[in-house]
Amino acid sequence: MPVYKAPLRDMKFLLNEVFDYPGHYTRLKTGENATPDIVDAILNECGKFCEEVLSPLYQSGDEEGCKLDNGEVITPTGYREAYQQYAQGGWQGLSAPEAYGGQGLPASMGLFKQEMMGTANWSFSMYPGLSMGAMNTIFLHGSEDQKQTYLVPLTEGRWGGTMCLTEPQCGTDLGQVKTKAAPQEDGSFKLSGTKIFISSGDHDLTENIVHIVLARLPDAPKGTRGISLFIVPKFLPDGNGGVGKANGVTCGSLEKKMGIKASATCVMNFDEATGFLIGPENEGLNCMFTFMNTARIGTAIQGVGPAELSYQWALDYARDRRSMRALSGKKEPDQVADSLIHHADVRRMLLTQKAIAEGGRAMLYYAARLADHMVEGHTTGDEKKADAYDDRLGFLTPILKGFLTELGNEAANLGVQVFGGHGYIREHGMEQIVRDTRIATLYEGTTGIQALDLLGRKVLLMTQGGAVREFTLKVANFARKTLTDKRVRPFSVELLKLTAQWNVLTVRLMLAARKDRDVVSSAANDFLMYSGYVTMAYMWARMAAVASDKLEKGGSDSEDFYRAKLATAEFYYERLLPRAQAHATGMLSPTRSLMQLAPEHMAFTD
Ligand SMILES: Cc1cc2nc3c(=O)[nH]c(=O)nc-3n(C[C@H](O)[C@H](O)[C@H](O)COP(=O)(O)OP(=O)(O)OC[C@H]3O[C@@H](n4cnc5c(N)ncnc54)[C@H](O)[C@@H]3O)c2cc1C
Repeated sequence: MPVYKAPLRDMKFLLNEVFDYPGHYTRLKTGENATPDIVDAILNECGKFCEEVLSPLYQSGDEEGCKLDNGEVITPTGYREAYQQYAQGGWQGLSAPEAYGGQGLPASMGLFKQEMMGTANWSFSMYPGLSMGAMNTIFLHGSEDQKQTYLVPLTEGRWGGTMCLTEPQCGTDLGQVKTKAAPQEDGSFKLSGTKIFISSGDHDLTENIVHIVLARLPDAPKGTRGISLFIVPKFLPDGNGGVGKANGVTCGSLEKKMGIKASATCVMNFDEATGFLIGPENEGLNCMFTFMNTARIGTAIQGVGPAELSYQWALDYARDRRSMRALSGKKEPDQVADSLIHHADVRRMLLTQKAIAEGGRAMLYYAARLADHMVEGHTTGDEKKADAYDDRLGFLTPILKGFLTELGNEAANLGVQVFGGHGYIREHGMEQIVRDTRIATLYEGTTGIQALDLLGRKVLLMTQGGAVREFTLKVANFARKTLTDKRVRPFSVELLKLTAQWNVLTVRLMLAARKDRDVVSSAANDFLMYSGYVTMAYMWARMAAVASDKLEKGGSDSEDFYRAKLATAEFYYERLLPRAQAHATGMLSPTRSLMQLAPEHMAFTD
């Protein structure tokens, strides 16, 4: 079974040459300690941990899975030791505030770490990932007392975190949440109800687990306006940073699922469990959105990670495995046959994976700069700045989450295809990547919900197309500036056409939606995918522009590296970007063909 290699050259190309993170960090208050040497050392160290500790547990964790023993969840062999190494290495607090025991580095550093960990072993990375979401929520909405009690052990990795939203009757429509919270005289609450599908709901990695739970107060308004947010610890804090008596929250069972088997997905029972209100009453869903936005960008990584991992392993295989002769003549005449890599159709698959992995990574790192500014706004109390960056990031979040996870699934499937029948056999790990990746388009808001959020809420309702205008203006300005570079010009010309088209499509949908209410739902997925392809095209043009410049003036990597970037950009523009036009056609199609069949006429079985 192959192992993961951290793609440090590609990461450093993006950080240092495309997005000027060294300059970005000097302008950030939290960036003071993120000097190039330190960033370099952290990335190298994290890469080593992922390659040597997490990657070897990837397949064994899948084979063994989690077990429920006497009400306690046991993670697969090696997970506890790996987690201890992770916590002792201070990795959980990398970008957490220094005031609560973190290292205070910019949020983006946490994302680079998460990418490598998630690619090496997604199941493992779920445990610290969920804790991160809990930390962010408590940091933004908790009282000072709650921060003191929970943030330090979470930051140290001694305690873990979860998000408990989903119930049997609702995952998307959280207005239907039934879990109850009864106020107590001492100001605490007693929570009762059942949550399902709770990632990291119980496990043996940490001494305590801090559940962030959505529940209803008595007489709360119906729907989403009557939901509040609570902290419910597995063990009540003892007041000295340790754990006290057990709370009424237990794991009822473990879900049996398609993939990410080493990640415990639990049914959680709250039986008069003591909880503490976090944020204002009945505004739980708003507070939870903080959690969800962080989690959604985190989940977008689950598009890039599998593309990268599957590409690495498929590439190795395609170099070794031999089959027939290349159509253009023998490439390895001394061998019995040519390697797979010489066949154009195999290259189509490999280059699609490569373009998705590297293009997707660029999208994430582009967004991570915005996240740094947003977080800085929050930490320094500059809410205006925080809101401005939240808006810019808010537009990109559904594109990153929805589009990248859809493409991650495609890339993972292509990895199986490159292996032929061997891809379907477990020992190579390729089918595991497919199974593990499948969840990414479902949790943290399905692709359908991301698409509605993008088109319905952020583009049409909240900004009447303004979000698209603002983003495309940036893209068009970049394209105009690069028209003079002959290597980049074809990309710039295409980008200019697409930015104009994106705005026209938005206006046409806005007008159509006024006449037919089903338009938004029927067009949303095509609009999301179109937006994704254009955003990725912008990233490939930016990478190509830097590569072209470095070929002229010299850069920190080899000429071959920069030529490969230009070649992959060309592949993306010629072979993947044309898909945007099918989505443009799809989104403008009338709703009739979708809506005309009555539900009882969808099938004739009796
Ligand atoms: C492995 C795993 C881990 C998970 N981890 C967690 C966790 O840690 N915490 C947690 O709280 N939850 C978790 N979940 C739950 C997950 O977030 C939900 O499953 C997800 O949000 C979808 O909700 P649902 O399953 O109820 O699907 P539904 O809401 O029933 O949706 C079914 C389908 O209908 C579509 N749909 C629904 N409403 C609309 C609409 N209005 N318009 C158009 N289409 C619509 C959806 O896009 C989807 O395709 C996890 C789930 C799994 C499988």
